[in-house]
Amino acid sequence: MLGSPSDFLPFFSLNRKEIDDGERVCSEYPVRSTEYYASLADRNNPLDPIKRMVFPSLSELSQFVSEDPFKEEEQSPVPFLTHKYPDRVLVIITNYCPVLCRYCMRKRNWKRSTFVIGQKETDEIVNYVKEKRIRDVLISGGEPLSVDFQILEYLLLKLKEIDTVDVIRIGTKLPVVAPYLLTDRIVSLLEKAEKVWVNTHFNHPVEINNYSCEAVRKLLKAGVPVNNQTVLLKGVNDDAETLEKLFSLLQKIKVRPYYLFRCDPVKGVFHFATSVEKGLEIMRTLKKKLSPLALPYYAVDTFKGKVILFPEGAEYKKAKDGYLFNVNGTDIHLP
Ligand SMILES: *Cc1c(COP(=O)(O)O)cnc(C)c1O
Repeated sequence: MLGSPSDFLPFFSLNRKEIDDGERVCSEYPVRSTEYYASLADRNNPLDPIKRMVFPSLSELSQFVSEDPFKEEEQSPVPFLTHKYPDRVLVIITNYCPVLCRYCMRKRNWKRSTFVIGQKETDEIVNYVKEKRIRDVLISGGEPLSVDFQILEYLLLKLKEIDTVDVIRIGTKLPVVAPYLLTDRIVSLLEKAEKVWVNTHFNHPVEINNYSCEAVRKLLKAGVPVNNQTVLLKGVNDDAETLEKLFSLLQKIKVRPYYLFRCDPVKGVFHFATSVEKGLEIMRTLKKKLSPLALPYYAVDTFKGKVILFPEGAEYKKAKDGYLFNVNGTDIHLP
């Protein structure tokens, strides 16, 4: 495990100033990566996309935007659970992750000590899901597949038993950042839980190789559909050529591109945000080149839920210091 800026010297092109700046940022937002993930970088490229996604930069400090613009914590009827849509809930089962992505939308949780749900909290969540007749339960984190096996097993098998639950979605980055941690034991559990779909998180074509492919293959073989959520990141993947390659490769390995998100206006993350138009421009270019099967929805998140901009073309206006989105009659301002 790499846990300090100088640990990355064997993997990234780094000068003294970058290391020093990295140390400074670490006291606010720590650094962490698997060696595997860092090894995907090109050591001779100072602008390497993997480096940009995991190595801290000074731009993370002094940003004057919210830490939780989507009010996940205010819309939490029971601990660890966010309920924004009638039929779907989001459950954050841990804040631990083997890789700390610099653009993480839940960067606010990095400052808290490590938490993992226990049996009591799981029972509360399960009761809530039953009572509200929820259809689709999203399990996220942190890295949800990093939690203790017994807890994961308890949660998934309890959810499987609930009649109203048709879908259990697990948002995991293991195939991308640590494919060897997706063990046969975990995959068998996902198969046994029957209702599981996996959403994974590839952002760049260099993340697709024999190792990540093998992890995906194991999931597919276990009958687990795999979809992908990409974040549009300035200086990493914000051009049509890179995303065309990414989405075609994903389709090739039977992973359906599900969402392309505009990077969220979250504190410590906002330097990765492109304009909203940038994503639209890219998607319009890709629409002419790729099958709709290889085209994700392009969306922005708001505290009222996600707004799909492509292919639907939702209404929004340019406003002072940002954008106004109309979500079910409410005007929502995003920087
Ligand atoms: C994204 C999200 C969902 C799931 O939305 P889909 O559009 O169905 O993928 C559910 N709850 C919350 C709080 C979310 O942020």
